[in-house]
Amino acid sequence: MDSIHIDGLHVYAYHGVFEHENVNGQNFYVNAVLDIDTEKAGLSDELELTEDYGKVCELITKIMTENTFKLIEAAAQAVAGGILRAFPLIKGVEVEIRKPEAPVELEFSSLSVKVRRSWHDAVIALGSNMGDSREIINKAIDEIKGSDFIKDVRASELIVTKPYGYTDQDDFLNGALICRTFLSPSGLLDLLHKIENEAGRKREIHWGPRTLDLDIIFYDDLIMDSRELTIPHCDMHNRRFVLAPVNEIVPYYRHPLLGATVKELLERLDNK
Ligand code: ADP
Ligand code: MG
Repeated sequence: MDSIHIDGLHVYAYHGVFEHENVNGQNFYVNAVLDIDTEKAGLSDELELTEDYGKVCELITKIMTENTFKLIEAAAQAVAGGILRAFPLIKGVEVEIRKPEAPVELEFSSLSVKVRRSWHDAVIALGSNMGDSREIINKAIDEIKGSDFIKDVRASELIVTKPYGYTDQDDFLNGALICRTFLSPSGLLDLLHKIENEAGRKREIHWGPRTLDLDIIFYDDLIMDSRELTIPHCDMHNRRFVLAPVNEIVPYYRHPLLGATVKELLERLDNK
């Protein structure tokens, strides 16, 4: 991937955990690497085909000076997210914030934090069988659409399905969506749990009734298995109520472990 580099952008700002840092301020220096495909701009020499790095510098300065963060981690997160949201051609960004006058009583030349954020595809399944399920799911979709960490949300129709696993409960309403996010899988799971909790979700019976269930089905073509997260979702290929809505939005998304597309997985399940 091509990149544009901004080195040592100077800003005077007020970030820090000590009050004197918030009152007196100090010097910060920002480096940024912008992942951007420059070929079209390179061949045509047209400014519209790339992002204006002057504007990127202005945005960095604005975020750094109009906010007061305790941590440069938070400043770097805000700058990276701000750049990704404002400049659609930038696919990923690395932001390093240096704080050469950090209040540490030892000799050092600089202290810095570097973060890397980029846009990823995420497919999320939605389900509910308690309360006004349609309203609950639509509200969840609106919250996902409104999130600062997410863009380009495209949702399926909602379908009524029979309960799976624990069958002595009401029918479900199910759907799916695809979006772009610069959250990590675990950051995305935290956001989904927050939205579930706001909808009054309580974790009682496994596979039991729930006001809202939000599961990560795919994240790019990532394969991961940690204590908190299995991606692709471990049982998606056996669940018609997941495959049917996902097939509506991304039939050709290929399952990175099974090697089959969503459309093929749904056909396999229907032929069982
Ligand atoms: P289920 O969705 O299986 O009915 P829950 O919604 O109660 O169950 O989720 C239980 C836990 O499953 C979550 O807290 C989460 O840590 C874990 N989990 C593992 N993989 C995923 C995934 N792909 N998406 C969402 N949660 C997952
Ligand atoms: Mg779940």
